[in-house]
Amino acid sequence: MKPGKVYLIGAGPGDVELMTLKAVRLLGEADVVLLDDLVNREVLRFVAPDAQIIEVGKRGGCKSTAQLSIHALMLEHAQAGSIVARLKGGDPFVFGRGSEEMQCLVAAGVAVEVVSGVTAGVAVPAALGIPLSHRDCARSITFVTGHACNDGTVNWRGLAGTGGTLVIYMGIANLAQIVAQLLAADLPPALPAAAIQHGTLPQQRSVVTTLAELPAAVQAHGIGSPAIVIVGEVVGMAITQSIKHEIFEAQS
Ligand code: SAH
Repeated sequence: MKPGKVYLIGAGPGDVELMTLKAVRLLGEADVVLLDDLVNREVLRFVAPDAQIIEVGKRGGCKSTAQLSIHALMLEHAQAGSIVARLKGGDPFVFGRGSEEMQCLVAAGVAVEVVSGVTAGVAVPAALGIPLSHRDCARSITFVTGHACNDGTVNWRGLAGTGGTLVIYMGIANLAQIVAQLLAADLPPALPAAAIQHGTLPQQRSVVTTLAELPAAVQAHGIGSPAIVIVGEVVGMAITQSIKHEIFEAQS
């Protein structure tokens, strides 16, 4: 039997045109495709007609397939000799649990290759024309999860002190607490800040405002997950001009 292999593939932020050529080629070669729920279903047009497609979404609160059962599925199909494309939103190694999947495959002696994708934290700000490292105002970019907000694992005070751009993934649920901690760490209330939901997709929506006003603006305009939150001077350069609380609907 021909040995199987798993490709851990980044599908990019949403817009299928932001997927890599390598991802598209491998999707066409795969026998089995495992899809996360953040992945745009338009990618299915690149999948071979006889491939098996398995949905393995696990968003909080929704129908979930536990991480362990994803591991089991990948192992089962690869050990049966299949080429498995495990497609994950953005980049598989940026807040994506791709590392755990890789470790499980390596431990079982299954061949695995990682195919990087464009992470939401880079592509979504770009969709608004926010230049994350514009050198007049940002010498660093921090990617941070807002998911673990109150357990002390993220040093918000330390991040506030970098003086660079903060790009927060999974930050909407804890936004009020995150902003409170950043303000308590002396970031200026008037610092530009934005939240962008469904970035790069036709349903993209965003608010551009100030740090202090961001939680209220997000709530007022019903910005929910998945969203990227950006804090820093560079947000003021958004080409969709930063009128307070203005909400920008994607142009289709
Ligand atoms: N591996 C992914 C991130 C997975 S964590 C990547 O590299 O992009 C999931 C979080 O990513 C979401 O809660 C949200 O913060 C962000 N995200 C993913 N796609 C997004 C999109 N199209 N628009 C806004 N945020 C997005």
